[in-house]
Amino acid sequence: GGSASASTIKQVKLERESELRIEVGNETPLKLRLLNGSAEIFGSELAPEMWLTFPPRLKFAVFTWYSATIEMDGATETDYTADETPMVSYVNVHAVLEGRRNRAKALSPNDSEASQGPRVIVVGPTDSGKSTLSRMLLSWAAKQGWKPTFVDLDIGQGSITVPGCIAATPIELPIDPVEGIPLEMPLVYFYGHTTPSNNVDLYKTLVNELAQMLETQFARNAESRAAGMVINTMGWIEGTGYEVIKSKPDDDVNADKLLLHAIDTFKANVVLVLGQEKLFSMLKAVAKSKPNVDVVKLQKSGGVVSRNAKYRQKSRGYRIREYFYGLANDLSPHSNIANFSDLLVYRIGGGPQAPRSALPIGADPIANPLRVTPVNIDRDLLHMVLAVSYAKEPDQILSSNVAGFIYITDIDIQRKKITYLAPSAGELPSKYLIMGTLTWLET
Ligand code: ATP
Repeated sequence: GGSASASTIKQVKLERESELRIEVGNETPLKLRLLNGSAEIFGSELAPEMWLTFPPRLKFAVFTWYSATIEMDGATETDYTADETPMVSYVNVHAVLEGRRNRAKALSPNDSEASQGPRVIVVGPTDSGKSTLSRMLLSWAAKQGWKPTFVDLDIGQGSITVPGCIAATPIELPIDPVEGIPLEMPLVYFYGHTTPSNNVDLYKTLVNELAQMLETQFARNAESRAAGMVINTMGWIEGTGYEVIKSKPDDDVNADKLLLHAIDTFKANVVLVLGQEKLFSMLKAVAKSKPNVDVVKLQKSGGVVSRNAKYRQKSRGYRIREYFYGLANDLSPHSNIANFSDLLVYRIGGGPQAPRSALPIGADPIANPLRVTPVNIDRDLLHMVLAVSYAKEPDQILSSNVAGFIYITDIDIQRKKITYLAPSAGELPSKYLIMGTLTWLET
């Protein structure tokens, strides 16, 4: 590891197949450019000599296949060079996927089976580099002219939109090392919680909805069908399943089942397992009954930075801030005031249940996890992030994707007024709002 360094200009020479691993300092951004040679950041090539500005706390690597000289200006938390990386094995996977895309494209688009490109799902423990590998595979494909679809099922640390969502978006260009995934037209479903154990049925339902919607889009778009998808998943932990479930020891959610559900639902045919023997053999065993599914074990990169629960919590906050204010504070969200009666807030599942005494004899007070119920507007909504549904009727809420999000900044009970932050001024695309447990404290 490196040490905190002063804010000075510094040059680093990278040898063939090595990388410069950087954690930007907590306070100030870092400027960096490619002086000579060639290099890429998570699959996206650097333009020569152009300064890039990386925001505080960002963790990334500049990798070169041949050789490169990098210049940095600013303070880093860490920066060091590593010549052992799993990049060759990752790019080999890319080459195999590339072959499958070409085959899919060459085949008749009327044969929807044969003309389907690879559907890759990336699985592994938390902090194994799943998002990073997904990103490289997408950027390498985009560089070769494909428009693969990125599907992010990670409701904790997703990279398409705010936490608590599952989402998909086409990737048409290599992903920008600073800006990340372009947000032009993501297809987003709001789950509303950051762990699947809050409502497993809802999670699965939304995964089904997203998959169905993509299936419809693929059916009429041979180009994106041939390019296929890359699906990022939540972190898996031996024995307990998803890491996020550990906080609830009485929870019997079987994370393996959620992974298998995702593999089946998206008809994934390539499963990439990052650094987890047990998960690999489990999936390998399951795949025996699925001749079309290849399960591949890949090494975790030594550069992947582990993030603890507190860090994860914080970065969820930053994600929400970024949605409203932009990465570099370049967006200006609008504060709006509405009457309580203007907005219809709903929640899905959970919530207060009828007491047993209020139910007919023999009835079970277990709430239907998929029931959509109206929520009374009160102080509990303060600091919540709500999704704006595309639903036209309440009974469409469960199956509808969302247009965006609002953040509740004030509730005036007396005047029955609600103040919220929205990405822009003007009327919301719909009055149907979905509430989960996603909150944010603007700082
Ligand atoms: P999670 O399960 O929490 O979503 P993950 O398995 O998707 O985690 P990543 O998000 O890909 O893990 O990686 C964790 C962090 O490590 C990220 O900040 C990423 O940018 C950083 N990182 C990944 N690979 C490298 C590398 N080779 N050098 C430096 N930083 C890296």
